[in-house]
Amino acid sequence: MIRDVKQLDIDGKRVFVRVDFNVPIENGEITEMHRIESTLPTLRYILPKAKKLIVASHLGRPGGKKNPEYSLAPVRAALEKLLGCPVTLAPDCIGPEVEALVGQADPKVLLLENVRFHKEEEKNDPEFSKRLAALADVYVNDAFGAAHRAHASTAGMAKCFTEKGAGLLLKKELDYLGTLLASPERPFAAILGGAKVSDKIGVINNLMPKLDSLLIGGGMAYTFLKANGVSIGRSLVEEDRVELARDLIAKAKQSNIALLLPVDHVAAEGRDKDPVAVGENIPPKLMGLDIGPKTIALFGGAIKKARMILWNGPVGLFEDEKFSAGTKAVARAVVESGAVSIVAGGDTVAAVEQAGVGERITHLSTGGGATLEFLEGKKLPGIEALEVAR
Ligand code: AMP
Repeated sequence: MIRDVKQLDIDGKRVFVRVDFNVPIENGEITEMHRIESTLPTLRYILPKAKKLIVASHLGRPGGKKNPEYSLAPVRAALEKLLGCPVTLAPDCIGPEVEALVGQADPKVLLLENVRFHKEEEKNDPEFSKRLAALADVYVNDAFGAAHRAHASTAGMAKCFTEKGAGLLLKKELDYLGTLLASPERPFAAILGGAKVSDKIGVINNLMPKLDSLLIGGGMAYTFLKANGVSIGRSLVEEDRVELARDLIAKAKQSNIALLLPVDHVAAEGRDKDPVAVGENIPPKLMGLDIGPKTIALFGGAIKKARMILWNGPVGLFEDEKFSAGTKAVARAVVESGAVSIVAGGDTVAAVEQAGVGERITHLSTGGGATLEFLEGKKLPGIEALEVAR
């Protein structure tokens, strides 16, 4: 059983919260605050009750060495503003200075310096985990994006606590993604896109038995189209996955799952060349870079019928306006369907925001690799370590 923070005894306790504040920073300025903002419900819940709120995160890849470029200093300032109370940045995440700061009553919120300044973090070193654990009485994990890695501040230190559980953001992820795997509303449709088939095979295999329809677009669709004998010109293809795509098409047919592939495309001679509308077969000189209007209508029909929708991966090169119409149309169809919608992956979340419908999506999943591994049915070490006996 995994408890959430509201079920934990945190009154007057030192509470350690592992968050994912791995935000983009340019010239000392945070350019995207979403990851910080999404942990605020957890931090605001703990703050008035706890004796001390200790917040820890990784940032970038400092390679196990102290490096000011990856300091959480800009995050401290942002967090202080958002929480509306003083936040101290500790000079490190372990050691006597940190212990002294934890022992002081003020300020109540202590942000530890980047846990990846120690190589022991990514090695999941048990001694390092113990030193982190010694700082607190209660452990809360709200870092879904880091849950698929067994690191010291995630899986490692969680094992040192009996009073531990999921933060509200992590709980939300587990609730939505868990329902999607265990008891999805039907009809259940998955829209998969993005560049590579190979990244999505595990997800397709695990979801297939639960799906009513599977809509495949984006770069990965061309490997499936090739398996069907369609001409794909110079489109993205993974030759070594064509056979597998053929097997998946057959499996979908056997299981009565509607597997929909593009029936027309927006193509071009190159990514920086003018778009050309083409039918199902793509001429040899062109590459498919977006789905065409007939496909938008075809996909739209299946989306409209669905009561639950999972979407991962844009259906075209949406970063370029010329090839973004398909992805935007899919985004609008998803919200207009009124279905429970779960959008996963950084690119896809960016795409729904770009289409102006982000707020109408039921759940925007914050994890990239973690979400995919969860959907593959894998146990995530950061989550498993939160299990306690009933
Ligand atoms: P992924 O990380 O696998 O979800 O892939 C996302 C990337 O795939 C985005 O940068 C998209 O622009 C790109 N993409 C989507 N459709 C295509 C396509 N037809 N050809 C090339 N790249 C594409």
